[in-house]
Amino acid sequence: MSSLVENIQVEPRKGPKYSFFEVEVVRVIDATPTVKLFDLRVPGRDVYHFKAGQFIQIDFPIPSKITRRSYSIASAPEGTNEFQLCVGRVPDGLATRYLFEEVKPGSLLKGADAIGHFVLPPVVDKELCFISTGVGIAPFRSMLLDGYQRGIIKAPVSLFFGNRHESDILYRDDFEKMRHEYGLHFYPVLSRQQDWHGPQGHVHVHYTKHYADKRPATFYLCGWRAMLDDARAHLTEMGYDRKDVKIELYD
Ligand SMILES: Cc1cc2nc3c(=O)[nH]c(=O)nc-3n(C[C@H](O)[C@H](O)[C@H](O)COP(=O)(O)OP(=O)(O)OC[C@H]3O[C@@H](n4cnc5c(N)ncnc54)[C@H](O)[C@@H]3O)c2cc1C
Repeated sequence: MSSLVENIQVEPRKGPKYSFFEVEVVRVIDATPTVKLFDLRVPGRDVYHFKAGQFIQIDFPIPSKITRRSYSIASAPEGTNEFQLCVGRVPDGLATRYLFEEVKPGSLLKGADAIGHFVLPPVVDKELCFISTGVGIAPFRSMLLDGYQRGIIKAPVSLFFGNRHESDILYRDDFEKMRHEYGLHFYPVLSRQQDWHGPQGHVHVHYTKHYADKRPATFYLCGWRAMLDDARAHLTEMGYDRKDVKIELYD
């Protein structure tokens, strides 16, 4: 007698099936002692399609049960087959050890098509606040470059970017340029530099002050869990609704 169960294919949980293809490392740039920028290119494709804010999965030759890692694309879609990743070294991390120690210009990685829902709306007509620390800045750089280039940003945008020292501020020139050209409210917040004339301490102190009047805004948070949990708690306490808070969690 056939049973329903026989018709169900049971497979071990492997996560979604992506097809992987060769991605070539074009350039490796030391941004800080613990962050490298990787310019990648998909040979054999005219365009690597992605939306600003999406991420790529890379399958690494590492001794781990899970060999895939995700990386937000830090560049804007330019209609080419090139894009940039911004990767922070994780102590004892397997994929980041591989990226930092083995990968050089000309190396081939296995990458998949870009995915993710952490993207801008078609038109930004409500105030926007980006909050990140360290490499959590990657999708925001992509969204801001793309959003300003395409002229879809019609409301004020603030970027609260927490780091320890001035030398840790990734893509600083880009954000300063956006401040001058488009009026981006750029707040680099430093927690360990006494002689810094800008905002000091933890990033949370500053956006909570900035939005103390609880005016309507959409918040985008990106990075590691500890910072995101705190930010979400602060925003909830301030009275912002869950639907006003969009999150890209790295761990
Ligand atoms: C959607 C998405 C986008 C991402 N985008 C980026 C990106 O743009 N840039 C980037 O650098 N990373 C990004 N990550 C994180 C990335 O996928 C890897 O998790 C990271 O590079 C560590 O991989 P690993 O193999 O070196 O470490 P693993 O060997 O996987 O991890 C070692 C251990 O360290 C822990 N750990 C990982 N990161 C940290 C940390 N920062 N501090 C303390 N402990 C940590 C892990 O939980 C694990 O227990 C993203 C993750 C997701 C889910």
